[in-house]
Amino acid sequence: MNTRIFLSAPDVSGVEERYLVNALRSGWVAPIGPDLDAFEAEIARRCATAYAVGVSSGTAALHLGLIALGVQPGDAVIVPTLTFAATANAVVYTGAEPVFVDSLPGDGNLDPDLTAATVAELRREGRRVSAIVPVDLFGAVAEYASLEDLGVPVLEDAAEALGSTRGGRPAGSFGRAAALSFNGNKILTTSGGGMLVTDDHDLAARCRHLATQAREPVAHYEHRDIGYNYRLSNLLAAVGRGQLTRLDEMIARRRQLRERYLKVFAATDGTRLLGDDPGANCWLTTLVVEPERAGWTASDLGAWLGRHDIETRPVWKPMHAQPVFRGHRAAVTGVADRLFATGINLPSGSGLRDDDKRRVFDAIGEFLDAR
Ligand SMILES: *Cc1c(COP(=O)(O)O)cnc(C)c1O
Repeated sequence: MNTRIFLSAPDVSGVEERYLVNALRSGWVAPIGPDLDAFEAEIARRCATAYAVGVSSGTAALHLGLIALGVQPGDAVIVPTLTFAATANAVVYTGAEPVFVDSLPGDGNLDPDLTAATVAELRREGRRVSAIVPVDLFGAVAEYASLEDLGVPVLEDAAEALGSTRGGRPAGSFGRAAALSFNGNKILTTSGGGMLVTDDHDLAARCRHLATQAREPVAHYEHRDIGYNYRLSNLLAAVGRGQLTRLDEMIARRRQLRERYLKVFAATDGTRLLGDDPGANCWLTTLVVEPERAGWTASDLGAWLGRHDIETRPVWKPMHAQPVFRGHRAAVTGVADRLFATGINLPSGSGLRDDDKRRVFDAIGEFLDAR
């Protein structure tokens, strides 16, 4: 009997088990401890940042990052429309308004020129634009060079991009700070968790303080700020340390999968893989299908693979089209809508076994042969 093949299942081994058991036996069963300290130092090194603050989720890292950048209720914050809802939700938590901006067709990342135009327009109207939150979509690092000239603090949503580089620079090192996610489906998982990385000492210290219930460093409980219970557990940090020893190997396996998809679809008219940065970690491989040329749609392929118990998923539904954000301001060119209509994420997990891969590529081969 076939078991279901998932898009991006957790890939854990005996290494993570040993780290976890050792942490448990050490007695540090708390959101504080030596594995958390070490995991922060190791992630900071990987991202080439001076500081890292472990938190309970990528969403928490985004929320704290926005607060630390000074985002206030009523401000405008630029968010790519093509992302997971957490990017926009974190903005709403602060009381600011997410303003959605469309994508570049090549890799689906935030369109820098449209961002500049939108920031200028908001300023002409007297709005305060207090942050831009570009997303490194499906692991491909966005373009930051021109965004950093707009005079607006940049918070990198690198939730999908740990281990990626662009122009030799690691994901997590762009902007004033970056948010990472260790959710179960991400490239490195702690089952749930996240981290804020930055070179800014004061920003890191502020996030650490807010994540720990904003408790002042005195004997009694003293609070000057509204705090959050956002710290990462030492046990989960231990799992993350185990995962980190395998990160390069896990990225290599995802890249190999993408190479195979590239070969399989190379001769198929009207198809392409989203993005082509060799530095991307290939968290999810996305196939884009132009039905007019291919003679079939991305959802035809998704339905076919679904019947073979193989999971696929449409590209993120753009935020400007989500019921919860309807009526929000958006600079839309149609690129993200088109990617949602024509894009499909294919199984990309580093834990796929050889027979899983055979099943995926056999099913795709049969699908293409029948067209
Ligand atoms: C996963 C993800 C998040 C949220 O991370 P969590 O750890 O699940 O809270 C935020 N932004 C993007 C782009 C993501 O993919």
